[in-house]
Amino acid sequence: MKRIPLHWQILIAIALAVACGLVFGKDAHIGSLALLDAYTFVGTLFLNALKMLIVPLVVASIVTGVAGIGSVQGFGRLSMKTLTYYVATTLLAVLLGLLLMNIVRPGVGTTTLVATDEAKARLNQVQGRGVSDIAGVFLQMIPTNVVKSAVEGDMLGLITFSLLFGYFATRLASNMQTTVVNFFRGVYDVMLLITELVMRFAPIGIFALVAKVVATTGVNSFRQVAVFFVTVLAGLIIQNFVILPLLVRTLGRVSPLRHLRAMAPAMLTAFSTASSSATLPLTMDCTEKRAGVSKRISSFVLPLGATVNMNGTALYECAAALFVAQCYGIQLGFAAQFTIVLLALLTSIGVAGIPSASLGAIIIILNAVGLPPEGIALILPVDRILDMCRTTVNIYGDACGAVIIARSEGETGILTDLSARAK
Ligand code: ASP
Repeated sequence: MKRIPLHWQILIAIALAVACGLVFGKDAHIGSLALLDAYTFVGTLFLNALKMLIVPLVVASIVTGVAGIGSVQGFGRLSMKTLTYYVATTLLAVLLGLLLMNIVRPGVGTTTLVATDEAKARLNQVQGRGVSDIAGVFLQMIPTNVVKSAVEGDMLGLITFSLLFGYFATRLASNMQTTVVNFFRGVYDVMLLITELVMRFAPIGIFALVAKVVATTGVNSFRQVAVFFVTVLAGLIIQNFVILPLLVRTLGRVSPLRHLRAMAPAMLTAFSTASSSATLPLTMDCTEKRAGVSKRISSFVLPLGATVNMNGTALYECAAALFVAQCYGIQLGFAAQFTIVLLALLTSIGVAGIPSASLGAIIIILNAVGLPPEGIALILPVDRILDMCRTTVNIYGDACGAVIIARSEGETGILTDLSARAK
C-alpha cells in the first residue's frame, strides 16, 4: 500500500486532535488515566526528542556552513545577502501589521479589560522588562561561557561562537582543517538522520500537542480580542501566502506552490510546537531533501534564521502593542508608531524560538512607548493559538530565504522533480 505523504499524515493528526480536544475536553479519563496527562506525556516526549537535536545541530550546521562557504569574499557576500533578506522581510511584516491594525482598529471601543488568573500569573513572569533588555540582546551575542549558552539554550551566543569557529577553522593548515570540518560534517549528518527518525513520530506527537491546546483553551467571547485575533491572522496569512511566495517567485524564480508543498511538514510542525528552534531539524531536512537547496546554503541560512528571522513574531509584536494602545484609548502619534516598528524589528531578532517568547518583547515595547505593560493581559487569551500561526510564518520566512539566496548564488535543481523528492 502506498504510504500517505507525511504532511497529510500530520494534517489528519491535527484534524483528529481538534475533534478529540473538543469532544472529550480536559476532564476525560480512559480508566484511571486522565486523557490530558496522556496528551502531555506524548507531546512532551516528541518535543524533547526535537529539542535534544537543537544544540548539536545548530553548532554543526553553522560551523560546516561557514567553513563550506570557503573564501572570505564568499562569506561576506552570503552574510550580507542573508541579513538584508532577513531585515527586509521582517520590516515588510511589521509594516503590514501596522497597516492592518490602523485600518481595522480592533481595540477601539473596548470597555472591559480581560485579566484572568492565568493571564495575571503569566504577566508576573514577563513584567519588569525595559528598553535595557535590548542592550541585553547585544550582550547575549558574546557569551562568557559557550557551554553555559548551550546548556541554557541561549542561541544567540551559540551562533556567534559557531560563526567564529567555522570562519577560523578555514584558516587552519589543510590537514587539520579537514579533520575539524569533517568531524562537524559528520555530526551534522548524524543529526539529520536522527531527525528523520523523530519525524516518523511527528503525526503522533503533533496529535498530542494540538489535542492538549484545544482541550485546555477556552473559547474567548470578547469581541475586541476576537477581532484582534482575526486581524493578526489575516496579516500572517498575507505574509505567508502572498508576500513571501511573491518573493520566492520573483527573486527565487521557482514555483511558490511547490515550495509550500515541500515545506509543509516543517510548517505543520512549527504550527503544533509553536517553536522555531524545535522545528529547525525539520526545516533543514525539508529544505535540503524536498526543496533541493544545497547544504552549503541551508546550513548557514536556516539555523541563523530560526533565531534571528521572525516575520510572524515581528508582525504580532507590532499588532499587540497597537491593540493595547487602542484598548486603553491612547492615540499613538507618528513617533510612537515609528518606535514600535523599530522595536518590533529589533526585538524579534533577539526573541528565542520557543513558545510565547515574544511576550517579553511586547512588554519591552509597551514600556518604551509609555503604554501600561499590564495591557498584555488583553492578548493572552489568544496568544497560544496566534503563537502557533506566527511560528509557522517564522519558519516559512527562513525557508524562503534559503531558496532565494541559493538561487542568487546560481544554484540549480531547486524544487525540480518534487515528486521524486517528496517522502
Ligand atoms: N514561538 C515563536 C517561535 O518559536 C516565538 C514567539 O513569537 O513567541 O518562533
